[in-house]
Amino acid sequence: MIEPPPWFAKGLPHVWLPYAQMKTTPPPLAAVATQGSRIKLADGRELVDGIASWWTACHGYNHPHIAQAVRRQLEAMPHVMFGGLVHEQALTLARRLAQLAPGGLNRVFFTDSGSVAVEVAMKMAVQLHLNRGERGRVKFLSFRGGYHGDTFACMSVCDPDEGMHAAFAGVVPAQVVVDLPRDEESEKAFETALAAHEGELAAILAEPLVQGAGGMIFHDAEVLRRLRRAADSIGVPLILDEIFTGFGRTGTMFACEAAGVVPDILTLSKALTGGTLPLAATIATGEVFDAFWSDDPAHALMHGPTFMGNALACAAANASLDLFEREPRLDQVAHVSALLARGLEPCRDLKGVVDVRAMGAIGVVELEKISDLAGLKRRFVERGVFVRPFGRIVYLTPAFTISDDELATLTQAIVAALAEKG
Ligand SMILES: *Cc1c(COP(=O)(O)O)cnc(C)c1O
Repeated sequence: MIEPPPWFAKGLPHVWLPYAQMKTTPPPLAAVATQGSRIKLADGRELVDGIASWWTACHGYNHPHIAQAVRRQLEAMPHVMFGGLVHEQALTLARRLAQLAPGGLNRVFFTDSGSVAVEVAMKMAVQLHLNRGERGRVKFLSFRGGYHGDTFACMSVCDPDEGMHAAFAGVVPAQVVVDLPRDEESEKAFETALAAHEGELAAILAEPLVQGAGGMIFHDAEVLRRLRRAADSIGVPLILDEIFTGFGRTGTMFACEAAGVVPDILTLSKALTGGTLPLAATIATGEVFDAFWSDDPAHALMHGPTFMGNALACAAANASLDLFEREPRLDQVAHVSALLARGLEPCRDLKGVVDVRAMGAIGVVELEKISDLAGLKRRFVERGVFVRPFGRIVYLTPAFTISDDELATLTQAIVAALAEKG
């Protein structure tokens, strides 16, 4: 094997890696290039990518159409501040997202990460009530198994017991976090929580159809319809966080479409730029926006990230939307879905496997436990694939454009690596 490049050894002592105990975490892999569903490492190895870089690279890496759009924008104007200035890429993207989003979702607020998009959605919900003259609606009803980001307000609406944020229990604001109403018992608890907190809730917040980072937990469309009815019954907005599910991941352009549910506020990010540049959007309905439309400056939404509406990122997002229009992405998702279900099915017979499931381009093997996470990750790399298991979950969220052979490499590697574990 080739020695790691000098930048690796020199830089590693100075970088702080995500979600990592820096003392014990195995050294990360040094990536030098990507193409399609492949990641090339500094030592010359090439891995088939099963994660699409935290679910972002839905068209595969280095799609020439996105690259060209970004290059062209770089020449003309990489960025201007969005305060007092606007530009074609951002306004075109806002119009296209408004057309694409279901129902009356038609007002787009741009930010630069998913967490901030959720923060903005929460801020909108709280201020909406204040602007309408109703005080005291400051809490959020969210769900166990949920994940909405790592900033403080986002942490407060994530699953409270889940390892990532448990240490901050006393620091983040207390919210009302309950089980999704998916059976008689959880429905009762949901109703009780609604009744107990009705007057203090600002919004109900959920990930539609799949709770991603909380464990790739699926629920059906009826659950979403229940949330819609609940929000309506107490007169608060329903916020759907489609940062993971948006842009085809679950099989429809937006997961909420499969349930025929339109939220009042929708958050998008991850696949928005096709995995090239950071960008997020919080999309509100006309009705939500109207609560801010006033002669009173205090009724304005006071938020404005420095890199809001970044032109390079918006150009990438517009190019990504072109690809959804021109290429049969959702058909590819359906195809990937069938191959994931079939390819992972043999895992069901392995010891320690609790469940095997697929929805859209998401394939999941749920285990009783993963005792040697680092060892499992290493075995995947040895088999030429990049897969990032977490908690009790081994999952695949490949690019929608992945080839059948590459997908077979991924599913076979999972079957083999889990079988080897015994
Ligand atoms: C990833 C994710 C976020 C946070 O997005 P960041 O860009 O990492 O801040 C929020 N909600 C959901 C559903 C996500 O999957």
